[in-house]
Amino acid sequence: MDPDKKDIFKQMRLEMVYSQLTPRGIKNNAVLEAMNNVPREIFVTEENIPVAYHDCPLPLFFGQTISQPYIVALMTELLKIPEKAADTKILEVGTGSGYQAAVLAYIGCRVTSVERIPDLASFARINLAKLPYADRITIVNGDGSEGFTQASPYDRIIVTAAAPEIPPELVEQLARGGRMVIPCGDLFTQQLIVVDKASSGKISLEKGIACRFVPLIGKEGFESC
Ligand code: SAM
Repeated sequence: MDPDKKDIFKQMRLEMVYSQLTPRGIKNNAVLEAMNNVPREIFVTEENIPVAYHDCPLPLFFGQTISQPYIVALMTELLKIPEKAADTKILEVGTGSGYQAAVLAYIGCRVTSVERIPDLASFARINLAKLPYADRITIVNGDGSEGFTQASPYDRIIVTAAAPEIPPELVEQLARGGRMVIPCGDLFTQQLIVVDKASSGKISLEKGIACRFVPLIGKEGFESC
């Protein structure tokens, strides 16, 4: 990419952090650092490159979206990734563009990300191949509402599509001492839920902000419309 353009995006990222993230309370340094470095412009469709850092979700393909930067930062912060991130194994359900997976990998985590739509899984792979930390991410094509048992248990699970309920399979695949962040509700509005599994195996839930995601479609999600 020509160096002038690279500088423009760097500036846009910085402005995004200082106008959208810190004023809304995002304060984890690793999260801010990742948001300030992961190039969101490579994860959006060509016509949306000029608005890649706007304060909103953007359309991808097949009616899917890349989440608003604030929501990506908030969900990442809510995961409470330990400082020794390299030891943290994460399952993401809903790869979409690959941007959220890139933010987690930038922090140092190992990410398995499951995407239902094969062409979006390919889009994400192409995007992620441009980054030096892509080797920490494995993209799987399939129904992530059932998780991905092959790589379980996971220290953290992040679901980036709206679920009608917390899928029991995902709770099962969460390690003891682990945490999941998932939007739950109906097709129009959801609440971000933080699920903690204590070392005893006891589950506790905390409800967070209202949000709106595209639906999780699959066995433990909504039916395809
Ligand atoms: N995290 C993404 C990013 O950074 O671009 C945005 C995710 S988008 C809001 C939701 C994604 O979840 C869509 O790509 C959709 O196809 C996917 N999805 C929906 N149901 C799914 C399922 N059962 N398993 C895996 N992916 C699913």
